[in-house]
Amino acid sequence: MKKVVLLGAPVAHSFSPTIQNAAFKEADLDWRYQALEIAPGNLGATLARMREEGWPGANVTIPFKEAVSPLLDEIDPSADRTSAVNTIVNNNGHLVGHNTDLRGFMTDLKAHWQVPSAGPSLILGAGGAARAVAFGLAGEGLDLTFIARSSGRAERLAEDVRRGGAADVATLPWAREFFVNSSSQCILVVNATPLGMMPNIRKSPWPDDLPLPPDAFVYDLVYSPPETRLVQQAHQSGIEAVSGAGMLLEQAALSFELWTGQTAPRERMRAALGKALGRSSAWGKLAGQPNRREVLDA
Ligand code: NAP
Repeated sequence: MKKVVLLGAPVAHSFSPTIQNAAFKEADLDWRYQALEIAPGNLGATLARMREEGWPGANVTIPFKEAVSPLLDEIDPSADRTSAVNTIVNNNGHLVGHNTDLRGFMTDLKAHWQVPSAGPSLILGAGGAARAVAFGLAGEGLDLTFIARSSGRAERLAEDVRRGGAADVATLPWAREFFVNSSSQCILVVNATPLGMMPNIRKSPWPDDLPLPPDAFVYDLVYSPPETRLVQQAHQSGIEAVSGAGMLLEQAALSFELWTGQTAPRERMRAALGKALGRSSAWGKLAGQPNRREVLDA
């Protein structure tokens, strides 16, 4: 049996083992996906084991997406661009770092919203996932404003995106007045913070007493619960919004394809994720599936 692993800390909450093991089974591969909680300082030793034991690859999550790069043999342009690795492919001991978050985000965003070729967008947060979002949106020609708690982190990200060719990039502090001032004209709001994630489902990055921008589409990267507080706030105001379940699924499918060279069994993966998230009636709508009942019952 071949082993594919998730490297991170913490990893217990992850849906990746459920999604990937369903995919391996569907593809009739004798592979097993296992989440490994890695202590700080043990990342290099785990990668050495991957080389020695011939594991086909790995996913990388918090807090190693940036730290893993120097330990790899090659960085694919997808990861170089974002300075974040979420997938490793083991080519006979030669470890290559990729990033499937960017394509996962853009594919799912485009499945729900017609991305215009210009316009102001607002990104909440400036961490690893915000990087993928920012490079994806900048690549489409959108202007970016980050509202983020750590100004240094936001400025570094803004500078990287500017160097990548983005025209108009601004950063603002995480304070109510900036949510008010920056948002009225914006066409897209993306939450790239963990606010609202299980078990803190009553939290939202958006102040409760402040209207969301009326013409914006809202994308919440948080996927558990399937309908986050932010998505509820948007729907209550008649604003279109989705959570990040579709992105999670697509980045997982792209990782599967990198490891196996096969087309990912997306419907099987979607069904496994739907079950894991609970049979929420919101899930099918969030994942953009008109026939969600059939999918969930698969
Ligand atoms: P990260 O690198 O730790 O970054 C988190 C960002 O959120 C940072 O900017 C952080 O600010 C900010 N933040 C955290 N708590 C906050 C708070 N209470 N108030 C304001 N800002 C806060 O994490 P990440 O990898 O970017 O992930 C962010 C979220 O996206 C997570 O919920 C993750 O599950 C989700 N995600 C979803 C997918 C998907 O496929 N749907 C993929 C990747 C990530 P500081 O820098 O000040 O800490």
